[in-house]
Amino acid sequence: MNKIQFLRRLFIFACLAMCVMPVYAGNPACDNRVNNTFQKLLECVTVQGVRGHLAAFQAIANSNNGERASGTSGFDASAAYVANLMRQAGYIVTVQPFQFFTSRELGPSTLTQVAPSSVAYVQGVDFELMDQTDAGDVTASVTAVDLQLGLGNTSTSGCEAADFAGFPAGNIALIQRGSCSFQQKAQNAAAAGASGAIIFNQGNTPARTGIINGTLSAAYNGGIPVLDTSYARGVEWAGTPGLTMRLFANVFRGNATTSNVFAESVQGNPENVIMVGAHLDSVPLGPGINDNGSGSAAILEVALQMAKVKPWNKVRFAWWGAEESGLIGSTLYVNNLSVAERNRIALYLNFDMVASPNYVRFIYDGDGSAFGLQGPPGSEAIERLFEGFYASRGLAFESTQISFRSDYAAFFNNGIAFGGLFTGAEGIKTPAQASIYGGTAGQAYDPCYHQPCDTFSNINDTVLDLNADAIAYATLQYAMNTESVNGLRGKGNFRPAPSGEWGGHAIQ
Ligand SMILES: [Zn+2]
Repeated sequence: MNKIQFLRRLFIFACLAMCVMPVYAGNPACDNRVNNTFQKLLECVTVQGVRGHLAAFQAIANSNNGERASGTSGFDASAAYVANLMRQAGYIVTVQPFQFFTSRELGPSTLTQVAPSSVAYVQGVDFELMDQTDAGDVTASVTAVDLQLGLGNTSTSGCEAADFAGFPAGNIALIQRGSCSFQQKAQNAAAAGASGAIIFNQGNTPARTGIINGTLSAAYNGGIPVLDTSYARGVEWAGTPGLTMRLFANVFRGNATTSNVFAESVQGNPENVIMVGAHLDSVPLGPGINDNGSGSAAILEVALQMAKVKPWNKVRFAWWGAEESGLIGSTLYVNNLSVAERNRIALYLNFDMVASPNYVRFIYDGDGSAFGLQGPPGSEAIERLFEGFYASRGLAFESTQISFRSDYAAFFNNGIAFGGLFTGAEGIKTPAQASIYGGTAGQAYDPCYHQPCDTFSNINDTVLDLNADAIAYATLQYAMNTESVNGLRGKGNFRPAPSGEWGGHAIQ
């Protein structure tokens, strides 16, 4: 199809959607019919349908402290929402609860000078929590540890156990940045009996003067609260005789419970399972509507519209928990499968961020042609399927690196073919990409990535609509035929595209 034909068809399609039905009320035909062709399914998978689930996730976040992170009520409500809809639609729903290690703020923390003066410091202005700090509320004298002030200093404050010789047990340690990790400094302070620690910036260069915003790393096990601050505050407090502080780190750090949600088709060959997954959890900082309400809502709507289809292969949808804590849910799931169960999984499709406001149409580089790392055998065929889909709409696309930053990692590591779509996170759009996809060069694909502003309005409807169709297309194709991926014969009228080219299916 040339560009003019394409635009004409696009116009006709848009007019059918908008001129005839100015107010969307759902297509009544979709309530009853069996969407067992691409045309029927893609007609029923609409951006309005996906948006409805995004509205539900936003409402859940609104009534749960603005977040849907694993280990919180916002996640649990999201999981219940998905599980209920899938159960009502007739899927076999399984919830897999598990424990995971988490660290998150429960509310504002405080730092107060108790003596010699009474001063309340402000979080974000005067101090911050060290990421991965333990919780604690201590009031104690402050003791400086082996400081070396001034420009050009080579501070080793707190790096050696000997720095704490004579440290009064129970005091708060005032430690300077430099030479070793924050974790090592905090562990040494804890081992010396400190009840808490404040780490201030090094001040050796002008670049190292502000609040640090550092992390102790997940391995930290000192058991004491740790804050960080600027060089100027550190110098001030080191020079304050008789300083007593109250330090309150208002965090939860420890094991929490979350879950994966699975919905499996009743029908289909259990010896040849296709899996379609998206992580359901947000980061604690925001509602996570693009990351990853978008993928979660899109596969949910596809599953609902496919509920009456009798798939040739078993179809298993997955909504993962604790992705943001280190791909915990998907890794736990795959690693706990028996070898036989693993071998039954033909492929895994992953959808993590599919509606970024400043999007690029990325496809995972399954064949390794762009980034050199190939997915497990069959992954190249999945990449080609998505390429064919975009090509059929006259749209450009590009590969994205297999970076192991989403839930496909465990599938890759266990030799299971995978593929999927991505519209970009914190990466910066290039001028070349802006000329192809529109949007703004020099800006992040998702400027609200992992931020409070990742809300219902942080979604591009055009790419969401498109990718919901692409997900529906790939899911129905593989539900019926995985021959291009693993060589197994599928349903006859769902033949794979010949030699990796577009097979000429009518898709809209
Ligand atoms: Zn994500």
